[in-house]
Amino acid sequence: METGRPFRCRVLIVEDDPAVLETTAAVVRSFGYSVRTAEDGFVALHILREALPDLIISDLSMPSMSGFELLSIIRRRFPHIPTIAVSGEYIAATMPVGLLVDHFFQKGDHTPEQLREKMKELISNSPIRPPLGKADKAPLWIPRRDAEYIVVTCPECLRSSSISDDTAPGEVRDVECLACGATIRYLVDAGVLKLLEQRKSMVPPSPVKGNSGR
Ligand SMILES: [Zn+2]
Repeated sequence: METGRPFRCRVLIVEDDPAVLETTAAVVRSFGYSVRTAEDGFVALHILREALPDLIISDLSMPSMSGFELLSIIRRRFPHIPTIAVSGEYIAATMPVGLLVDHFFQKGDHTPEQLREKMKELISNSPIRPPLGKADKAPLWIPRRDAEYIVVTCPECLRSSSISDDTAPGEVRDVECLACGATIRYLVDAGVLKLLEQRKSMVPPSPVKGNSGR
């Protein structure tokens, strides 16, 4: 599609070694791509919240969130974004290429030209970028349990945390994910709550009472 304006494909590079990150970013920029960098998976998820790149290059061994974890989240949430994994460890044989990533490069075992060719190929083969789904905006549905806390799993980084449960029935709440900072919108199921309240207010424990008066 010609728009008359120069369009540069965007690449996100995730790498915890600052020197490697800088070198890779410089190489990829020299190919004409617009580059953003992240020093770990959580920073990468933060960037993905702002803008989706056309390709992601990620290291595999990083602190706090491994590249495997990050790439599996990306595969699930943004299956259309092509990904390249880079690693210093020799794991190419066990790497589930195609399933988790589209290509694997051994660190220091490929030329810039090979990287450029692979990037070009993956970007041109990737489907047209679909709009962000509504799934991100829909609140999580959490069945209320008879406990003081509820367990919320962040849809962005998939980490779970328990938070105190003081929501009103049917109230949609926002809570910040302690791991990645994403806003998690959730709704504690009011039907379950109502059932519990009914059960508490029933004096002699008896089977389900009719509640037609509501
Ligand atoms: Zn999170």
